Amino acid sequence: MPKFEYAPAPESRSIVSLRESYGLFIGGEFTPGVDGRAFKTISPATEEVLAEVTEAGPADVDRAVSAARQAYEHTWSRLPGTERAKYLFRIARIVQEKGRELAVLESLDNGKPIRESRDVDIPLVAAHFFYHAGWADKLEYAGYGPAPRPLGVAGQVIPWNFPLLMLAWKIAPALACGNTVVLKPAETTPLTALAFAEICQQADLPPGVVNIITGAGETGRALVTHPGIDKVAFTGSTEVGKEIARACAPSRKKLTLELGGKAANIVFEDAPVDQAVEGIVNGIFFNQGHVCCAGSRLLVQESVYSEVLAALRRRLETLRLGDPLDKNTDVGAINSAAQLAKIRELSEVGEAEGAQRWSPPCELPVKGFWFPPTVFTGVSQAHRIAREEIFGPVLSVLTFRTPAEAVEKANNTPYGLSAGVWTEKGSLILWMASRLRAGVVWANTFNKFDPTSPFGGYKESGYGREGGRHGLEAYLDV
Ligand code: NDP
Repeated sequence: MPKFEYAPAPESRSIVSLRESYGLFIGGEFTPGVDGRAFKTISPATEEVLAEVTEAGPADVDRAVSAARQAYEHTWSRLPGTERAKYLFRIARIVQEKGRELAVLESLDNGKPIRESRDVDIPLVAAHFFYHAGWADKLEYAGYGPAPRPLGVAGQVIPWNFPLLMLAWKIAPALACGNTVVLKPAETTPLTALAFAEICQQADLPPGVVNIITGAGETGRALVTHPGIDKVAFTGSTEVGKEIARACAPSRKKLTLELGGKAANIVFEDAPVDQAVEGIVNGIFFNQGHVCCAGSRLLVQESVYSEVLAALRRRLETLRLGDPLDKNTDVGAINSAAQLAKIRELSEVGEAEGAQRWSPPCELPVKGFWFPPTVFTGVSQAHRIAREEIFGPVLSVLTFRTPAEAVEKANNTPYGLSAGVWTEKGSLILWMASRLRAGVVWANTFNKFDPTSPFGGYKESGYGREGGRHGLEAYLDV
């Protein structure tokens, strides 16, 4: 199939006005850090410095937690649900109004294609606030008793793969249930969280209800171990999740963890091949594979292996990698030099262990952090690339003969966040779904998200649910 040439279609970045430096958002105001430390956030596509951001130290964490406590005691927990709902609706509407600006900012700071930030991330952010605005005055119908109470102050730490969306997953339910929050975005992607702080000001949210503190791992550690926090919510690596679980164990803090994954995307011989190939591509190359529920292990029924692989290779040859702000781009930049090094290392291990590596011909930009879409075949279950989360655009392909073997292989992982099943048989979908140990099972689709449906893992993928009625439990004293 010939590859079409596309004229460049860059989204203008003039809609974003970046400040040179940002303070911490505490008590409704941007304030400098106590010890004056700062770090730079860059565009992973060009390595250009975008802005300087304050590094919050323990004294700043303390100030933010006090501001959240004040707001909780004196304002937010006393407001009726109908009033809290109005603020959430207002935030959702402002997110929609600023949608283009937020999408450009997200793509600049994260490296993801504008097509994704514009069509997936930002609309879902607004949807999460709308959805939870609807719950704020109906909590007595959520199934947690006649008058469920909030927990207090939530300390929330989020990763860099969906910066504003993960913020929405954390802040919207917390506020709907009557809690106040201190949130720390990831070190490499703080800008949309800071833009969100401005949205809180614009929405006239009472000071201290939302506090945003920027910093690295140390700031996160200071936040989750702070004695003034009632609830900790974390999304990120399993390793850091375990550390946080240990740190919270001796305390009364309620904890939810959304950690790594190594999902199986399972293609049966009766699946429509072209549709399945789209699902495979969306499963692992969406957001450069920086997705905790990515379909990073492809399990193909042996009888259609050659056909599926040939169709997949043809499709990958049409993917366009490059400028995240170009509306034609399918695959953007890797978020950081550190993440690129990890993807490279695990890919080299894959080759060393005997798997065959393939990438479509594709030119990588000279500046910035890039990795081509990559497929490993000849992968066995013992290989590290079949067991460890690579968190990049790297697919490991395995085969199976029977549904029972597919279940066995899919569940043979320490993780259990998601899975995909491709078949025309409804009965087989139900048979598989009841046996797969995964929080989400997609049937004939992949990577579909909706605020109304709970998301979360089994085993080392964490505990607790986010989204839907189930997600409210994490922020209520039940
Ligand atoms: P981390 O788990 O280290 O980071 C997630 C968040 O936690 C960030 O805000 C981070 O800050 C913060 N943090 C780091 N250490 C601590 C700590 N001790 N206490 C509290 N907060 C902390 O992920 P990385 O960004 O380092 O990525 C490493 C690997 O984790 C990736 O290669 C990938 O495999 C996996 N990962 C999985 C995600 C998922 O959703 N499943 C999401 C992100 C990463 P800072 O940004 O400054 O490090």
